[in-house]
Amino acid sequence: MSATPNPKRVAKALEKWFAANARELPWRETRDPYRIWVSEVMLQQTRVETVLAYYEPFIERFESVHALARASEDEVLSAWSGLGYYRRARFLHKGARYVAEHLGGELPADVEGLRAVPGVGPYTAGALASIAFDLPEPLVDGNVARVSSRLRAVEDATEQGAQAKAHWAFVAKVMREGEPRVLAQALMELGATVCKPKQPGCDRCPVARDCRALAQGLTSTIPAPKKKKASPEQHFDAVLVRWGERVLLERRPREGLLAGMWCVPLIERKTARAPKVATLGRRLPAPLDRAQDLAPVNAEPVKHVFTHRVWHLTLWQARSARRPKAPAGSQWAWISPGERPEGGVPSLTNKVLAKIGV
Ligand code: SF4
Repeated sequence: MSATPNPKRVAKALEKWFAANARELPWRETRDPYRIWVSEVMLQQTRVETVLAYYEPFIERFESVHALARASEDEVLSAWSGLGYYRRARFLHKGARYVAEHLGGELPADVEGLRAVPGVGPYTAGALASIAFDLPEPLVDGNVARVSSRLRAVEDATEQGAQAKAHWAFVAKVMREGEPRVLAQALMELGATVCKPKQPGCDRCPVARDCRALAQGLTSTIPAPKKKKASPEQHFDAVLVRWGERVLLERRPREGLLAGMWCVPLIERKTARAPKVATLGRRLPAPLDRAQDLAPVNAEPVKHVFTHRVWHLTLWQARSARRPKAPAGSQWAWISPGERPEGGVPSLTNKVLAKIGV
């Protein structure tokens, strides 16, 4: 084995392997830059299996940059509901509006032009340039960074992340040795299916011959295990206000977690201890303060884990004798069982509503 991985040999092995092993995925059947853009944004921090349920319905609803640009934010968030990381959807929407207004609906076929589109960072620009336009431009996400760290036996943990320049330089060299659109996807596929974080499948790896980590017995120590920081925990009382069959949802504030999304009204508390009914009753905001029969819901509290935060929701139920007036500056929606308002409805809301069969 040579001292450094040979980009040409790596490229050839990857192309051959990808031709025989690529998973059939709907976004691999298209060369349409818009569709590839949607898939790349959806795939960020999200598993392929999850994206499969969202990609085609989204494309059917917004079949082009223009269609997405014309849609309201609520329509876009509705189609994204349950996929998480809703900022991505807002940026994609903003980017589509920019491309429709300033570029006639055509994504630029160069990295610089792509980077000028709102929300398109170095990774997405590299992915679009290589996969959609077949340009030898590098792209490095977490999967590719891990493959590159292992191939080059990078032991310094600060150089193992996707931002490290050496990965981009190495991937650029590989890209120049073959068909960029194939190599970009092959590198990501290898990281996702073979060179996994734990117990990589080196015995079936097409680039094992060039892997320095394998040769040096470092595959289990590269990349270095991340020290897990404890996520801050927050406690809320979630009040399910019923009016007949209906339940009241509130739009979350425009800033913070689940910004602008539909949720049951949440009242944050300082401690994990549940308040007395009377205490909670006094804290209810209008229009909930006229709700009657406030009582705990006979169900386990709901735990929801975000990337850097954990929420614990204690559920309460209250009845409203009449349809309360919407207070100024807030947005409220009464929903019937099975119904969801237009706009983003996060999986947390569905989890809570499922507890009372709505
Ligand atoms: Fe990853 Fe193993 Fe392949 Fe090296 S040989 S790139 S560690 S799967």
